[in-house]
Amino acid sequence: MKNLEIASLFYKIADLLEMQNVKWKPQAYRRAAQSLEALERDIEELWKEGTLKEIPGVGEGIARHIDEFLRRGKIRPFEAIMRKIPKGLGELMEIESIGPKKAFFLYKKLKIKNLGDLEAAVKRHKLGGLPGFGEKSEQNILKGIGMYKSGHERMLLGKALSIAEGIVDELKKNRGIERIAIAGSLRRMKETIGDIDILATAENAEEVMDAFVNMPDVRDVLAKGTTKTTVVLNSGVQADVRVLKDSEFGSALQYFTGNKEHNIKLREIAIKRGLKLSEYGLFEKKTGRRIAGKTEEEIYAKFGMKYIEPELREDRGELQAAMQGKLPKIISYGSAKGDFHVHSNWSEGSEGIEEIANAAKNIGYEWICLTDHSKSERIAHGLDEEKVLKQIAEIRRINRKFRDFRILAGSEVDIKADGGLDFSNEILKKLDVVVVAVHSGFKSAKGQMTARVLDGINNKYVKIIAHPTGRLIGKREGYEIDLERVFEACAKRGVMPEINAYPERTDLNDANAKRAIELGCRLAIGTDAHSIGQLHYMRLGIAMARRAWAGGKDIANTLNLKEIENLLKLRE
Ligand SMILES: [Zn+2]
Ligand SMILES: [Zn+2]
Repeated sequence: MKNLEIASLFYKIADLLEMQNVKWKPQAYRRAAQSLEALERDIEELWKEGTLKEIPGVGEGIARHIDEFLRRGKIRPFEAIMRKIPKGLGELMEIESIGPKKAFFLYKKLKIKNLGDLEAAVKRHKLGGLPGFGEKSEQNILKGIGMYKSGHERMLLGKALSIAEGIVDELKKNRGIERIAIAGSLRRMKETIGDIDILATAENAEEVMDAFVNMPDVRDVLAKGTTKTTVVLNSGVQADVRVLKDSEFGSALQYFTGNKEHNIKLREIAIKRGLKLSEYGLFEKKTGRRIAGKTEEEIYAKFGMKYIEPELREDRGELQAAMQGKLPKIISYGSAKGDFHVHSNWSEGSEGIEEIANAAKNIGYEWICLTDHSKSERIAHGLDEEKVLKQIAEIRRINRKFRDFRILAGSEVDIKADGGLDFSNEILKKLDVVVVAVHSGFKSAKGQMTARVLDGINNKYVKIIAHPTGRLIGKREGYEIDLERVFEACAKRGVMPEINAYPERTDLNDANAKRAIELGCRLAIGTDAHSIGQLHYMRLGIAMARRAWAGGKDIANTLNLKEIENLLKLRE
């Protein structure tokens, strides 16, 4: 699939245009890129059908660019712009506190062309005193460079998952394939992934490996054999395919799923019982007799344990819980009946309310909560009081068309620096769901930020605190905040901390979500979808909930319409 390739090209184009101070257009390219990232179907299929323009955010001009790219592998007008700009500037722009305009400025002014140049210039204090670079800039830039580097060694879960599943689908086309599974941190659904591991059994391993190295997404073949083949994909990520004996598939899957600490502990348990566990199976130490290995279930069963879901295999007490028969029954994929955080084209989303509602119904949801931004979010076209009231009326009007489905009128309301909310109680009480969030002042001191958020969630109309740490993976660390106190206040007031499922947020993360549940909170998963395709990020949110040991009752998305109306005390 070329979807991600074209999306990343559009992001690049947006940055280039922004460098040159072009207004509006960058936003249009980014919106199209977001849609492409979330697109479930292969862009080339849509292209062949002539339905490119049905993709949200893709108009005449962008459709023409996609067409040119699919025919010629490039987009001419942008080739010309890109030739004029050094390659390394692309990385510079992604550093937090730099961005496209400053990157271009530094290039013009100091001939800084890449990360190395920038690091050297900062260390020699060359930036101090330049317009737009304050006292703390140098420190922040160094921090940003560190974040960028660590963020780019690993890939976001959502992206890795769609690449890996693409490979699995492609390999499944080989008639010889018998069993196939994704292993590694991807199977455990970690928020970022190092590389992709795929295990298979097949009648003819050679055929499978040939198909693998001939996939169009393969950039380099590092090693090719009949048991293991390693390639580098166009995105730069490394992917391994192993073809195994059927009798060893379970033990290999267990071994390659990890994590390392989980496996070490399990091997220690084996040794204590006179057994030996390896990727080839579970053996009796004395006799060498093989007693399990075909499936993971039979391996865990030999230890007297129930099957441990991959998301739990992080050495956080799951082995002990399994031995004591105390493993939690974690929430299952596909059990969400609604989404708490969605943007429409009233603020920065791509589609209208009714279109979103219909898409949600098609997923099988019973409700969806619309949460456009409040007025302070000017860049995101936040709604003022008048518009919010209009939107509520519009939602009520559309709801009359539905049976057994309801759009909840929500708002993502800014918690301002002083702890006050962006709307008065007069407005808040008219909403079905008030979601609050911090979108500014990320560098505040911990005490100040904690007090600000506590003020926000102590408003009696508030139901959800969105993306509670504000982090963006690989771009921005979360703000300093005392989450223990926030969770305690949430539990007391019945406010739900969010698991924001947007891939670069994943906020709360697994560990924080687990702690929130331990402190008595119920959690709300919100995809923060900016287009219909992104509603599928729900799966990533549920993955985080599973990693947090959450059961269905811990996650409010599992509530049906009646239950959610009761929870939110909605009379209509
Ligand atoms: Zn937000
Ligand atoms: Zn949002």
